[in-house]
Amino acid sequence: MECIFCKIFKKEINTKIIFEDDLTISFEDLNPVAPFHILIIPKKHIDSVNEINENNSIYIKQIFENIPKIVLKFNLKDYRIVSNIGPSAGQSVMHMHFHILGNRKMNWPPG
Ligand code: 5GP
Ligand code: ZN
Repeated sequence: MECIFCKIFKKEINTKIIFEDDLTISFEDLNPVAPFHILIIPKKHIDSVNEINENNSIYIKQIFENIPKIVLKFNLKDYRIVSNIGPSAGQSVMHMHFHILGNRKMNWPPG
């Protein structure tokens, strides 16, 4: 399975990369919904959080270890992490990703 985000991590599409390591890559969202809006994804096609298991959870570990490093680099104090799972929850790209949103007031509950 090869999707648009697979193409991004394989560098087949030119994207502004924010942070990268052996297992993950982070880049600016094409259609930002906040002044700071980046995505962090595994460098492996995993459909969504719903597909995490003991064989691939190393990617989750790495993603969540990297988030504090990324937000520190951009001096974000308050921010929101979002992962939409399934179309009716708002998932439009079926490659697991975490939105990091910041630099504006966030509403609760989300829409
Ligand atoms: P979802 O709707 O699945 O939660 O989030 C997918 C996100 O990917 C959207 O915010 C959308 O703007 C972003 N996106 C979709 N295609 C591309 C792309 O080709 N490049 C980048 N940088 N972002 C994309
Ligand atoms: Zn993919």
